[in-house]
Amino acid sequence: MAIRPVRYIWAGALVTLLSLAMLGATVTLLAGLDIGLASMLVGLLVVGWHHLRCMQQLALWTRQPVGTPVPRVRGVWGFLFADLDRRAKLAYDSRERLSAALERFREASQAMPDGVLYLSEHETIEWINRKAEEHFGLDHATDLGVPVTNLVRQPEFCRYLAAGHYAEPLVLVSARRKGLTLLVQVIPFGDDQKMVVSRDITQIEKLETMRRDFVANVSHELRTPLTVVSGFLETLMDGWEDFPREDIERFIKLAHDQSTRMQRLIEDLLTLSALETGAPAPVEERVDVAGLLREVHQQAELLSAGKHEVTLEIDGGGVLLGSQKELHSAFANLASNAVRYTPPGGKIRLQWTCDAHGAEFAVEDNGIGIAPEHLPRLTERFYRVDLGRSRETGGTGLGLAIVKHILSRHQAELHIDSRLGQGSRFSVRFPKARLASE
Ligand code: ADP
Repeated sequence: MAIRPVRYIWAGALVTLLSLAMLGATVTLLAGLDIGLASMLVGLLVVGWHHLRCMQQLALWTRQPVGTPVPRVRGVWGFLFADLDRRAKLAYDSRERLSAALERFREASQAMPDGVLYLSEHETIEWINRKAEEHFGLDHATDLGVPVTNLVRQPEFCRYLAAGHYAEPLVLVSARRKGLTLLVQVIPFGDDQKMVVSRDITQIEKLETMRRDFVANVSHELRTPLTVVSGFLETLMDGWEDFPREDIERFIKLAHDQSTRMQRLIEDLLTLSALETGAPAPVEERVDVAGLLREVHQQAELLSAGKHEVTLEIDGGGVLLGSQKELHSAFANLASNAVRYTPPGGKIRLQWTCDAHGAEFAVEDNGIGIAPEHLPRLTERFYRVDLGRSRETGGTGLGLAIVKHILSRHQAELHIDSRLGQGSRFSVRFPKARLASE
């Protein structure tokens, strides 16, 4: 309904006054001046009383809850009340729309994977979502209205907030939750208000550290043999005639050993990177287990050169579904580790068993064993319990990392049982789905 023009109100008032005047004039004509004036007075009192009642109704209405309809009255006040009602409805609707939009916005902010914190111009907390509560150890029930720096007291955060240079985000290692790293960005808005967005970058930081460690490890592993080879070449360049033949032969053998070591390292790195960087899933070849194990057994005996007793037990044989090359590499790695970490005279057992749930390949030795604190880290790249022994026996520190990758591509699991000074058992469990009938 459109708002009525103000002249309607004037017209209404005029009609009331004219009615009163006509009433007075008519009664004067019929009953004399006194009665006419008296009737006008009564009329005026009735009109006044009506105005007062309407005003009272208006005053009562303003005390009602928002959304209560305006009372219905007659006359000029009726026009005013109708306009008021219309305006109140419009205000009520737009308020409802605003609060629905605000609610939707809050729900969306709560669902965000990042932490969101609104700060007032005095840097007190105005609003906070669940993720931010988690990231900064806050609680919306108690912390709203409190200056943020009273609650998040890390000096780096306070300095960042105070400095006012928010173009670059802040990397914050949480003091409250161990191992949590946050990327914090402040976004100023409105009249000196701020939005603080926090993102959990623990995993990204971990990957970045791993990448840095990996590059450092590879460089270090390559530098040692390269230093030996280039040192030898420099010595020879300075005058190889001065050296006796036996010395030159010894140097050449040393340089050859080092270049073989570099070659092995590069081969392992390439294998690992092929396994890690989206190499296609293993071809579903039908791998004859008995044949594969006999080959691995022979290689272990060759590596041992008669210094160990290496036995092979096959219970069930069968066919494995997977990549022949990868499975051979994993099994051979475990067998060669057993030989390399078992002193001469030791025993090494290669075992294959099948049961209703799948099959198991195990390599058992009575070698040097591993202390329990090292077990969880053995499959990390370049992790070695004894660096000297690993290098001496031609290790690269990548063998078990390769084994782990190959096994996970075949849905198999690696278990390591070991006792320091007594020996180790590395077992690989294949699910039934990886086995096929012969
Ligand atoms: P490496 O090339 O050094 O042998 P691996 O990744 O194959 O690297 O093995 C990691 C480490 O695990 C080795 O350096 C060694 O300390 C330990 N290890 C592996 N197999 C055995 C084993 N059978 N007995 C004792 N220690 C072992």
